[in-house]
Amino acid sequence: MTTLQILRELRRELPAEVVICDPDAMARYRDDASGEPGGMPLAVLRPASVDELAAAVRLCNRHAVGIVPQGGRTGLSGGACAHAGGVVVSTERMNGIIHLDRRAMTLTAWAGTPLQVIQEAALAAGLEYPVDIGARGTATIGGTVATNAGGIRVIRHGMTRSHVAGLEVVLADSTVIDDLQRLEKDNAGYDLKHLFTGSEGTLGIVTRVCLRLKHAMPYTETALLGLRDHEAAFALLEAARAQLGESLVAFEGMWPDFFAHVCDEAALCRAPLAGRQGFYVLVEAAHRSGAGAEGFHAWLSEMLESGRVEDGAVARSGADAAALWKIRESVTELHRSFGPHLSFDIGLPPPVVGHFAEAVAGVLRDRRTLQFGHVGDGNLHLLVAREAGDTDHDIEQPVFELVRQWHGTVSAEHGIGLLKRDWLGHSRSPQQRDVMRRIKHGLDPAGIMNRGKLLTSPSCPESVLEDPTAMSM
Ligand SMILES: Cc1cc2nc3c(=O)[nH]c(=O)nc-3n(C[C@H](O)[C@H](O)[C@H](O)COP(=O)(O)OP(=O)(O)OC[C@H]3O[C@@H](n4cnc5c(N)ncnc54)[C@H](O)[C@@H]3O)c2cc1C
Repeated sequence: MTTLQILRELRRELPAEVVICDPDAMARYRDDASGEPGGMPLAVLRPASVDELAAAVRLCNRHAVGIVPQGGRTGLSGGACAHAGGVVVSTERMNGIIHLDRRAMTLTAWAGTPLQVIQEAALAAGLEYPVDIGARGTATIGGTVATNAGGIRVIRHGMTRSHVAGLEVVLADSTVIDDLQRLEKDNAGYDLKHLFTGSEGTLGIVTRVCLRLKHAMPYTETALLGLRDHEAAFALLEAARAQLGESLVAFEGMWPDFFAHVCDEAALCRAPLAGRQGFYVLVEAAHRSGAGAEGFHAWLSEMLESGRVEDGAVARSGADAAALWKIRESVTELHRSFGPHLSFDIGLPPPVVGHFAEAVAGVLRDRRTLQFGHVGDGNLHLLVAREAGDTDHDIEQPVFELVRQWHGTVSAEHGIGLLKRDWLGHSRSPQQRDVMRRIKHGLDPAGIMNRGKLLTSPSCPESVLEDPTAMSM
């Protein structure tokens, strides 16, 4: 069947407002926040119901047309980039909260609902959805489930997977799996919601999500601390875990190169501490009542008096806290101001992150780098400036070789997508990859779901998929 015939069939079977084929209107659906250029899709489909979505998937499967699921396109691994000649399925019209159950402390929403809308709805009910990332305003709940997003509160609350109570998913053959039950205890066989969480759109399209909520902790204390070096920062992390206990919700690390770039070179934020420090930590504690704040301030005074912390700025208001967070979260601007670069999202056991960062600086010799991350849970973000004539491989090979030697992961939270696909073998054994392929093949034998992302499709030889032009349809 020709492209034109497929387009005609899509228009015949789906309402007019679902199918976009105009190249100008489709341009914004080509790529995500990874900077990877996407191809021009054959069509962008924007279903508003599960039935419309299932009809679209059935048609694509019949003609082996590749589908790229898209949420807010804030992904950083190229997972939502369109294929030339394939179809984009955007969840933007499957948007809204369906039900919030205060007593059961659950919230059910359409996959295209922005994360921030979910956070605000939970707060309005005196509850909290604790997954939080800088892209909260645009990232969708379906996208965060598909990538098992982490973010700034993993140290206290875990990743998205910990909060998924149930999912509804449309498979490649258009079967709808309704796994939205909200049981606390349910050991009736394989737990399918965990299979789809973190599957990056390669096994099916998430349409509805049921989330577990927590009691709100409205009293937060935020401080930016200057320390001697990374060893002092990880000693502080141990002290914070021991003394602040469950109230510790964020422990973000910034190396001096990152801080100097954000506050001085690019002047994205005002530096709240005078002089230069050897390491910076943004620490946040949250409590259910105002009384918890005293414990945080007592701990901080002890750390300053004992010299474990050299300098600090404590937020006195919500605006102060936002200004401190802006330093750590100016990532979007940073990607522009730092110039051409490659980004890494490495996971390691927390105590070795600082030593790994030194080792990585060693193998990269005098290349310009910026290092920061959710260091409390062992997540290092690394930006490496490209130099004239550099290939991606020149930079990736030494970094990922080090990750393999240190038994880390090539993706702590952003997912594998397109950008890390060739390095999956540095974090997963041949046996693990084989099981992944068998699951993928079992659920999507024609390989239509997010073709060429995360894994190469079992139905296509790797060498074919490695050629980007071969990824179209
Ligand atoms: C400024 C900024 C800060 C960020 N901070 C963090 C952070 O701290 N932690 C973190 O983990 N990530 C972070 N990210 C990355 C990104 O926000 C997350 O990966 C987010 O989960 C992506 O959601 P999205 O809706 O934008 O998904 P998209 O980018 O649209 O898609 C991401 C992947 O999920 C798939 N997908 C999307 N929706 C569905 C669906 N309904 N069903 C099946 N598959 C689907 C896509 O095919 C793609 O593979 C950040 C990004 C930015 C730009």
